[in-house]
Amino acid sequence: MRKTIQKAKIQECLCSVKTHPTAELVYKEVKKEIPQITLATVYRNLNQMAKERKVLRLEINKEYHYDGDITNHQHCVCEKCGEITDLFKQEINDFALEKITNFKPSSVTIIFEGICFHCQK
Ligand SMILES: [Zn+2]
Ligand SMILES: [Zn+2]
Repeated sequence: MRKTIQKAKIQECLCSVKTHPTAELVYKEVKKEIPQITLATVYRNLNQMAKERKVLRLEINKEYHYDGDITNHQHCVCEKCGEITDLFKQEINDFALEKITNFKPSSVTIIFEGICFHCQK
């Protein structure tokens, strides 16, 4: 039962933000409500949830970031401030998938790197 609650809290935390946090940041948030939770538990749960495709796991700058939004979308990573923002352009995924013939993809990860709106100013 406790395990289910921990998992639910982790998922809830991820779904409530758009910031694509790392496991450490998820841990800090979840700890406020479940003080006895450990970072190892958060890591384990996140990896399991990513495997089950309940959350998205993105590898950005050699670090794992997690996303509670599992709908098809793309990500933009700012090279200056490191901010990760969502881009919802389904046609990008559709176009990429259309071009693949000899392979059956189960998921698509598209990450754009560049300069965000705020850093352009
Ligand atoms: Zn930026
Ligand atoms: Zn996202």
